[in-house]
Amino acid sequence: MTAENPTPRPTRVRIAPSPTGDPHVGTAYIGLLNYLFATQRGGEFILRIEDTDRTRFHAGSEQMIFDALKWVGLTWTEGPEVGGPHGPYRQSERTEIYRKYAQILLDNGTAYKSFESEAELEEMRRQQTAAKQPPRYNGAHRHLTPEQISAYEAEGRPAVIRLKVPENTSTTFRDELRGDITFDHNNVDDQVLMKSDGFPTYHLANVVDDHLMGITDVIRAEEWISSTPKHVLLYKAFGWQAPNFWHMPLLRNIDKSKISKRKNPVSLNYYRESGYLPEALLNFLGLMGGGMAQPTEQEIVSKGLNTKEGDIFSLAEMIEKFDFKRISLGGPVFDLVKLRWLNGEYIRKQSPEAFYASLRRTILSDDYLQAVASLVHTRLETLGQFGDMTSFLFSDNVLPTDAVFLPKKRTLEETLAFVPEQITALESADWDLTSIESALKKLGEEKQWSVKENFMLLRAIITGSATSPPLVESLVVFGKARTLDRMRRFLEAQKKIRR
Ligand code: GLU
Repeated sequence: MTAENPTPRPTRVRIAPSPTGDPHVGTAYIGLLNYLFATQRGGEFILRIEDTDRTRFHAGSEQMIFDALKWVGLTWTEGPEVGGPHGPYRQSERTEIYRKYAQILLDNGTAYKSFESEAELEEMRRQQTAAKQPPRYNGAHRHLTPEQISAYEAEGRPAVIRLKVPENTSTTFRDELRGDITFDHNNVDDQVLMKSDGFPTYHLANVVDDHLMGITDVIRAEEWISSTPKHVLLYKAFGWQAPNFWHMPLLRNIDKSKISKRKNPVSLNYYRESGYLPEALLNFLGLMGGGMAQPTEQEIVSKGLNTKEGDIFSLAEMIEKFDFKRISLGGPVFDLVKLRWLNGEYIRKQSPEAFYASLRRTILSDDYLQAVASLVHTRLETLGQFGDMTSFLFSDNVLPTDAVFLPKKRTLEETLAFVPEQITALESADWDLTSIESALKKLGEEKQWSVKENFMLLRAIITGSATSPPLVESLVVFGKARTLDRMRRFLEAQKKIRR
């Protein structure tokens, strides 16, 4: 074996989501690609939780990631809840490991301690911005003497550990889809590897874990390309073989911007709660990036296909036919209209029993019906009123008239400007009575909207009406993802109407 041809290793790939909120469609997209890649090569697909950024950590998010990925039909052989030979698979449980490896880099001179305070770094950035230079670490502590380091330590100054990016040179790595990519080191910052709180940054933890977990191919979204030179430098600093890198095209909104919750529901919970079939969503994600060959003109004619039918395929067919070398780098558009069409195709293909079973798992599940029933139990005179009082919890959308949603003392403009504030406040609320109430109350106090106005507007948007079962209880039952989506759709609809 030569250096250029190291021994082939059994394929091992991973996804490494960070538990920062609702599970993202991008995680399922990259998860599917990794799953296909491993399965096609008889390899392993691993799930690792990257939870070292404690400021963005969201309790409950990890479980939602597991549930959502299982819902779309993905399975992994190693991970936090299934265990495996390379655990733990949760980075917050591996901090000792990162400390040990950071020390190796300090010892071999590829990393160094830097002692600047937050205020000093802020000042550095301010001066650079004023001089119209890109803000970056200026390398001041790159060459501290052992005495200087001891003196800072004796003062009790906290330190971070930074990567010593070699000066006046560049790093080239191969991207399996794009070919060679070169980064001039003048544009690569001396990345922090260990923070002063003793937690590693993404870069160090990611490289150490990919190495220790035997990852052969890193298949991730293209937004990580600019991190890759830092990772390649880290592999070199440790003397390790780097994995192959595949950066997948980012999912995009219809307007081609990077997919974002402002323009598209991105939570997998939304798709589950609003009645998408997991097979349809998985098929749709498989279409992104163009790894599936489309039927030829000839096949379309000979098999009597409708061209669009070439877009419909199962997970088994993807395993058989998905070709990573076919992936096209133009950003795949996450087109909800197409997803809805595809979902409709899947629904129509279901047997009556399967269709009914799908309803019973979702919008007609015992849990949902019971929760809805409890909202109106004491309000009915006849059972026949149930449908009228609860239809907003079963419909796909509602559109309140101005008279219903506009508070008396507010203009249309200020009302429509307040809805995004409500969305932001609710986004960060845990979905229970107290946290929804307190998020709305806090917002109301900040923006001087009375509880009455605040609730009236929200009630109108969610229920389409000025009267409804208790609002916050209804939101809990309706679910976070659908509530937020209905609010965004309300704003979209208003924009269209007023155009
Ligand atoms: N934790 C990163 C994320 O949230 C992982 C990126 C990678 O795959 O390296 O997506």
